[in-house]
This record gives sequence, C-alpha cells and structure tokens, in this order.
Amino acid sequence: MSSADSTVPSTDPATPARQDFIRQIVREDLASGKHASVRTRFPPEPNGYLHIGHAKAICLDFGIASEFDGRCNLRFDDTNPEKEDLEFVRAIEDDVRWLGFEWAELRHASDYFDVYYRAAEKLIEQGDAFVCDLTAEQVREYRGTLVEPGRNSPFRDRSVEENLDLFRRMRAGEFADGTRTLRAKIDMTSGNMNLRDPALYRIKQVTHQNTGDAWPIYPMYDFAHALGDSIEGITHSLCTLEFEDHRPLYDWVVDRVDLAGTPDLLDSLTARGLPNVAAKPRQIEFSRLNINYTVMSKRKLTQLVTEGLVDGWDDPRMYTLQGLRRRGYTPASLRLLVDRVGISKQNSVIDFSVLEGALRDDLDARAPRRMAVVNPLKLVLTNLADGHAETLRFPNHPKDEAQGVREVPFSRQLWIEHDDFAEVPPKGWKRLIPGGEVRLRGAGIVRCDEVIKDDSGAIVELRGTLDPESRPGMDGANRKIKGTIHWVSAAHAVEAEVRLFDRLFVVEKPDDESTGKTYRDHLNPESKRSVTGYVEPAAALAAPEQSFQFERLGYFVADRVDHTAARPVFNRSVTLRDTWTADRTGG
Ligand code: ATP
Ligand code: MG
Repeated sequence: MSSADSTVPSTDPATPARQDFIRQIVREDLASGKHASVRTRFPPEPNGYLHIGHAKAICLDFGIASEFDGRCNLRFDDTNPEKEDLEFVRAIEDDVRWLGFEWAELRHASDYFDVYYRAAEKLIEQGDAFVCDLTAEQVREYRGTLVEPGRNSPFRDRSVEENLDLFRRMRAGEFADGTRTLRAKIDMTSGNMNLRDPALYRIKQVTHQNTGDAWPIYPMYDFAHALGDSIEGITHSLCTLEFEDHRPLYDWVVDRVDLAGTPDLLDSLTARGLPNVAAKPRQIEFSRLNINYTVMSKRKLTQLVTEGLVDGWDDPRMYTLQGLRRRGYTPASLRLLVDRVGISKQNSVIDFSVLEGALRDDLDARAPRRMAVVNPLKLVLTNLADGHAETLRFPNHPKDEAQGVREVPFSRQLWIEHDDFAEVPPKGWKRLIPGGEVRLRGAGIVRCDEVIKDDSGAIVELRGTLDPESRPGMDGANRKIKGTIHWVSAAHAVEAEVRLFDRLFVVEKPDDESTGKTYRDHLNPESKRSVTGYVEPAAALAAPEQSFQFERLGYFVADRVDHTAARPVFNRSVTLRDTWTADRTGG
C-alpha cells in the first residue's frame, strides 16, 4: 500500500464531521474556553497484542486529537511488570502507526514512577493514605460486599510519621511481596467498592522492562492512570464503560494530589520538559466494541496462541490487529468500521458482517482486479495452434480508469475452475457443460467438445473450440451467452499457495460459558484450508500486503510474511458476498 492509503485526513471535505457525544463535549469545551486545546492519550497495557476492540479506542483518541488540532500521546500503562514485555510494546507501536496515526509523545507510566512516589508521600502527609499490613485475604474480608459496608483496617489510624517511615521502607525493599500495601483513606462504607480504601501501591520484587530493579513497589492502575493523565495535561481521558465506577476514584486522585498546586512536583516535571499544564483531566466512558463470532480479550487471544489453537499472534484468523493485517484488512477498512459503529454509551454486539462489509467496501473501491484459479481444471482450445500466444489488455479496475490496464497472456491451454464445469448441471446452471458454451472473460466464447477422464473416472481435462467470431473486437464478441468464467493461461500462470481462511468460530458467542463449554469448543475446523492454484503473472508480481480482487473469488492479499514473486502466497481476506450465514444455517 502506498503511504497515502494509511494517513487519515483530518479535514477531508468529503467526510462530514463526526457527531458523537464525546466530540460534542470536546467542541463545547473548546468553544467555552474551558480548554485552549485538546490532549488525549491511548493507554494500552503492554501485556498482549492489540485487538480489533482497541482499534475503536485508537481511532477515537487519535481521531479526536487530529480533528480538533490537538495532541494524542501513546502511553504504555506499564505498572504490572510480570505480565508485560517489550515484544508487546513494539507490536503496539507498529499497530498504531499501521492504523494511520502518529503520537505526539511516547510515554510510559514508568517514566513517572518517581513522581507517583512523591505524590504518594504527599497523600500520606495529608492524611489521605496509610500503610496497611493486612494480607490480601484480610483486605477482602474487611472490604464488605455490595450490600454490606466494609470495616476500617486496624492500621488506618497510623500516624503520618509511621506511615511515611513504613512507605519509605517499602520503597527501600525491606519487606516481602504482599506483606504491606499503601492504601487511600477514603470511605469503607461507600456504596462504590472502588472507594473503600483502595490500594495505591503494592510490593513486588520484580524486574521491570524499563526501570529494571530500581523499584520494589509498583503503583496500582487507578492511581497511576489518573496521575499520568494529570502529568501529561490530558483534557479528555477516554475509556470504556467498565471504568465508569472508577471515575470517583480517578477524580479523588486528581484532586488530592493536586499537581497544579504542588510546586515541587510541578518543578520536577518542568525540569524534564513535561507539560506544565494545570488542566484537570475529565474521564469520559464509551461502550466497547464487541463483534459476534470473535473473542476479544487479551487473555483469550493469548491462550489461543499459547495453546497452539492458532499459528501465532498474527495468524490471519486472529482478531488481533496483527492477525487482521495479515489477513488483508486495511487500515482504512478498520477506520470505516469504527465510523460505522459510532461512539455511544450503549453496549451492543456488532454483527461480523459489518466488519467484513467495511473491508469489501474499501477494497471494492481500490483493489485492482486479477484472475486466479484455486481449483484448477485444464481446458485445451483445440482450434488454436500449439504455440499460440497473445496478450490481452484488461482494465485494472472496472470503475477506476486511473488504475490503467494490464497485460494478460492468453494461449491454447488454460486453467479454469473445476467448479465452473458440471457434467450433470444442477437447475439454473449458467456455466460450462459438455456441448455447452460459456464466455471466457475478455477472450471469447468457448464450446466444450470433449471431457477427458482418467482410469478412475475423474475428469482431468476439457477440450473445446474457441468461436473465432467471438474474439475481442470481432462482430460476434457481444453474442449473448449466459455465463462468464475466469481463466489463466496455463503456460504463463504462476503456481501459488492460496490460503482460504474462514471465521475462527462457528457460533455467535464463542465465549459464552453458560453452557459449560468454552470458546475452544467452538473453533471452526474449516477456518484454514490451503490449496495450490494459479495466478496470472501480474498477480504474482505483487508486493507483500498488496490486495486484489481475484475475479469471482473474493479479495485476497499477498501474504506479508511468506509471499514472493517466485513463490506467491495469497490469503483470502473476505469473499465477495456474505454467504456465511446462508451456508451455516442452511437458509
Ligand atoms: P482486554 O480487556 O481486551 O484484555 P484491556 O482493556 O485490558 O483489553 P488495555 O491495554 O487496558 O486493554 O486497553 C487500552 C485501551 O483500549 C483502554 O482505554 C481500553 O478502554 C480500550 N479498549 C480495550 N478493549 C476495547 C474494546 N473492545 N472496545 C473499545 N475500546 C477498548
Ligand atoms: Mg484493561
């Protein structure tokens, strides 16, 4: 793909301004002067590969920044070192760029560990945090339930001096994992469980991918995330609905730490060139992207890989961005999907056909056409000379003249699809039968004279006559004929591996475990089938990741890992029509 395909125009006059409730809030905040400019961030935890759900968050976070002339940071929420890895960091950076976005700043929660630590000391000094010696199990007991209030920890009333001393010793590595936590002092009777003295720091003697062994304690997500937003001057902190209940804690952290009112913290940030912005970040939640026939949690996607149920993170059947990319999904198709789904607070499940439809619509408009045969049957045109060879010219795209024309070799022996021939045709058959005629796309009309079989009775070859009056440019070229089939010249075609992928799961809700099954029980055994086919020379020459419509077969992409011109490998990205529902339900 050219680079023009992957950039997002921020002010494309053809695209009407998006009107969701979040953009409405942003518009109002800019109009009222509440914010002079917009700052957003996309905050993945580098504990797995991004999936298609993340595409929605990315398009929203980066899209809003670009539409309103703001800035969006990529921030790795790397506060859980045992699960995180640089492999994931690299892949996430790759994915965001592939989707067509560029971050203003690349940040890590770990860049701010010292600021978090100092902020925690400040909370202790204010009497807003305490060191608690309860075990994890005791903390659970004290927390209460949704219908019962919790009880105060017996350590809640430690003096500021004692708390500071213990916290500093936690930081110095004096205590074993899990023996103490730093907790916010909020309200053990709150109806919101997140406010019942939540942990701010835990002890983990674990090496961190960025900070090495510098820290034996790590901040909790809610604390780190709210403070990270403050530090970066984020104006609109967009996240999915499951964080709605965390918003009071988010606001509590922002208010109690009060970065703008804490000169030594601000100075330490300014000294490092961090934005000295007093804007108070506002968390706004939106509904997740859910698509049926998929699983979309990092945990399950990880299991598919580690249990060998798929061939890795970028298996073209995976709903990771890397998998979708290898399958032939384009950045534009995913952005189109996100636009079509829209942004709201309403939870819903999108039909898989919407995802496939977005890809078809994008590729229909842009992908050059080629001919390929995936289930080859030899057709010999007996009225052409043995060495007959000519070059036909085909438009690359029927609706886009700017794509020009290509040369397609034609000769006496062709490959056609086995499925385009029937000895005993079903009702309504329009393709080739013994003694019948069919149009060879762009090359004339052929009659089938003879069916050659092997000893077992299997058809191995067809022989036919090409009507000379039906050749391109001849008087009979427009003679009416029911069927048109595609073909490639056997002498010129290039053998190719064609991977016919299909959906990975056969049921709409693979992760519904209420029936006692898991998503592993719903894998589609036919989701990957590999065949040897033939493609016209102009398809073999494709660069990796180039997409085509193979006429009458679907949209295919040259595999980004395995494809070479000498040994082409194509992945079926999507069929031309949605035949899936009809196939499976017999409808
Ligand atoms: P998962 O729950 O699928 O394992 P996650 O939420 O743990 O993913 P994060 O790295 O925390 O993954 O996600 C980064 C951002 O992407 C968060 O702001 C999160 O709200 C958003 N996000 C994750 N999944 C979806 C989804 N399905 N639709 C929209 N946004 C999502
Ligand atoms: Mg998460």
